[in-house]
Amino acid sequence: MSQYTPMIQQYLQVKADYQDAFLFFRLGDFYEMFFEDAIKASQELEITLTSRDGGGEERIPMCGVPYHSASNYIEQLIGKGYKVAICEQVEDPKQAKGVVKREVIQLITPGTMMEGKNLADKENNYIAAITAFSDEEYGLAYADLSTGENRTTLIEGSFTDVFNEMTVIGAKEVVVASQFPEQYCKRLRESAQITISFENDEEEKATFSHLFKQLESTKLQKTVSRLLNYLYRTQKRSLDHLQDVAAYEVHHYLKMDYFSKRNLELTETIRAQGKKGSLLWLLDETMTAMGGRLLKQWIDRPLLNQKKITERLTMVEMFLEHYFERQDLRERLKEVYDLERLAGRVAFGNVNARDLVQLKHSLQQIPIIRSIISQLDAPIANSLLQHLDPCEELTDLLERAIIENPPISVKEGGIIQDHYHEELDRYRDASRNGKQWIASLEQEERQRTGIKSLKIGYNRVFGYYIEVTKANLHLLEEGRYERKQTLTNAERFITPELKEKEALILQAQEKSIDLEYELFVGIREQVKEYIPRLQSLAKAVSTLDVLQCFATISEMRHYTKPIFQTDGKLVIRDGRHPVVEKVLDSQSYVPNDCFMDDENEILLITGPNMSGKSTFMRQVALTAILAQMGCYVPAKEAILPIFDQIFTRIGAADDLISGQSTFMVEMLEAKNAITNATRNSLILFDEIGRGTSTYDGMALAQAMIEYIHERIGAKTLFSTHYHELTALEEALHKLTNIHVSAMEQNGKVVFLHKIKEGPADKSYGIHVAQLAGLPQDLIDRANTILHDLEHQQDGQAQANDKQVVTVKEAVKEAEEAPAQLSFFAEEPEKKVKTLSAKEQKVVEKI
Ligand code: ADP
Repeated sequence: MSQYTPMIQQYLQVKADYQDAFLFFRLGDFYEMFFEDAIKASQELEITLTSRDGGGEERIPMCGVPYHSASNYIEQLIGKGYKVAICEQVEDPKQAKGVVKREVIQLITPGTMMEGKNLADKENNYIAAITAFSDEEYGLAYADLSTGENRTTLIEGSFTDVFNEMTVIGAKEVVVASQFPEQYCKRLRESAQITISFENDEEEKATFSHLFKQLESTKLQKTVSRLLNYLYRTQKRSLDHLQDVAAYEVHHYLKMDYFSKRNLELTETIRAQGKKGSLLWLLDETMTAMGGRLLKQWIDRPLLNQKKITERLTMVEMFLEHYFERQDLRERLKEVYDLERLAGRVAFGNVNARDLVQLKHSLQQIPIIRSIISQLDAPIANSLLQHLDPCEELTDLLERAIIENPPISVKEGGIIQDHYHEELDRYRDASRNGKQWIASLEQEERQRTGIKSLKIGYNRVFGYYIEVTKANLHLLEEGRYERKQTLTNAERFITPELKEKEALILQAQEKSIDLEYELFVGIREQVKEYIPRLQSLAKAVSTLDVLQCFATISEMRHYTKPIFQTDGKLVIRDGRHPVVEKVLDSQSYVPNDCFMDDENEILLITGPNMSGKSTFMRQVALTAILAQMGCYVPAKEAILPIFDQIFTRIGAADDLISGQSTFMVEMLEAKNAITNATRNSLILFDEIGRGTSTYDGMALAQAMIEYIHERIGAKTLFSTHYHELTALEEALHKLTNIHVSAMEQNGKVVFLHKIKEGPADKSYGIHVAQLAGLPQDLIDRANTILHDLEHQQDGQAQANDKQVVTVKEAVKEAEEAPAQLSFFAEEPEKKVKTLSAKEQKVVEKI
């Protein structure tokens, strides 16, 4: 180390504390990176790698980014999941003895971004902390630093439950203790692209203990402390906007695991991994960024409490009945700025005057919003009214203090209104008078000299000057003007009186700029006092926004108010898949009915490929989810139970993987449903068993149906291409066959997408082949083969039944001894000896 120059030694000392981050080391106008950081950053950011002499034998790799455009580079690195430590010069270089003192002033990480393009308006940016108390008990806390939201829960279950919760939250970063099991970190990192950070300290500190004094569980307190300690340690600044920690229970919400949510494309589509095409995309008629974020939260967590669901529905109904008020409200909401993130920036100390003007405009809307809401008769309306706090004194302050169109910079003046502050007015008068005086001096000088083109100008270097063209120089009175600067065509002069006035003007200007900044900081401090009130206002506004959004979409797409019943009945008349309907346009979508009750718990759906089986299944699940979110549903009539959990096994996840692992995923998802579902759950199984040989698949499918029928009693939609399963209707009295119809028209198959009672026509495939014009001989031969196969199968199916005792055992075995997966595969070539790396990954994902 001693071989290096003092500055490089300083660099290495700082870097030692920030091993897992890029260290942006401030040198003059640049942030420089050295050694490994420089090599990696030059690749990631595509910037030039250079080197410098650092005192050692070899030159040190180096690269740098300009200070003024650094945020761009920082965002790129954060977007890739890295961390960036900002190391600034903390003393004036002129005063420094030896190397200028430098310190890390902030660690920027994916979970602690406060602004920039990685921070989508309508998405939260969560950072979480996990504490493992045992294999079966975990504390979880999470916060959005940009909005101050702060929540925690205790999860009694396996790490998979924690993983699920992490994916529901969509955290970008997770803070754990250094001894947290590496395999869990790996799973979070690789399967959910979450950045892992470490924080061992879980002591509560006086700085933030008030945030969770209401939490009873010391386990939760420890977890929250871990998170807050990390935030304070890395952010090194005021986090006054962090809200009181809200404890919640996972089981108060409709439970859906990671795969189910993905399969149903609630907040993003599987293929594009983007919002477009998802339920969120369809629903988003919110007018504010805060409402957009809350909508996503509601989709992620539909409710179980009927009273709360009904409260939301009643408010939606009110909005539907009051069309004009709703339109008016939408117009007002459009003017409301992101109060939550604004509060965060106020606490961080980086709001500018324009933000405050937007805050003023937002607050000015609140009295009008209040008067709209007070006309609506619903319980939620009343409680929201209490939180719609117009913060009048703050509005008044902002109206008086800040001009309407201030500049972005807060240090160059031009922000504060006249008459807000007497001293400022005096400086301004002085400078304005001075400028007037100069204008009249220009007139006087023109008259005195007779030079019409004479002018008085100003520049930063020479201050005020009198400019005369060379041709007119001879007209100037000797000795009166002092030469200051020579240009090609003109000379610039000053006079003592001009100099004197200039000093006065500049002094007044400088003082007024300083004073303006001082006043601005004072106003910002006053706004800070309002942070909790603004946050509570933000909650009320965003709730209103989502509820008006539900009404707007329900009206636009003709949704209906769902009715909840506890007798286990599910009746959907003329139901539609909300997203497919939108994409196809409502004209061509074929609505379908769904009827289930305690005597019809399992619907076995058959029909040709592409006929609409999985669309139908998804539409039932989405209808239930929308209803439990408190939104109207795409149907003419909907009577629903309140589901506790929804499980799906839908082919779409196949996109991720291929070959053998598809089947493993299928089995693990099936296992998840079968071991966790209750009578009150909804299960969607699409083409289960497709991933293995026919007999295997069919046997498993049948065994699963039987298991659900006998032991679980969950409402189940089961689509299959194993026509043979339709015979189960005889033996299982709670199973009903339905099919999706298709017909022939002018020699073509037309999918009617209509759900009908009974099983599908089994020779459908051959029928289609016939329609396609294959030779009649071939078709006849196919019919014969089919006939033979059916006879063979009767015998085989029985043999299969003996092999697969229960699905539960089969899956258990697969889990305990993944190396002996051959249990599932009949044909020798399908035997799987060991799990490939890819498969291992899939197993870990679940
Ligand atoms: P399957 O599961 O039977 O293979 P899908 O449910 O994937 O079929 O449906 C295939 C396509 O048919 C969908 O992408 C959609 O465009 C169309 N479709 C499905 N259901 C309907 C419906 N009820 N009305 C109109 N079109 C539908």
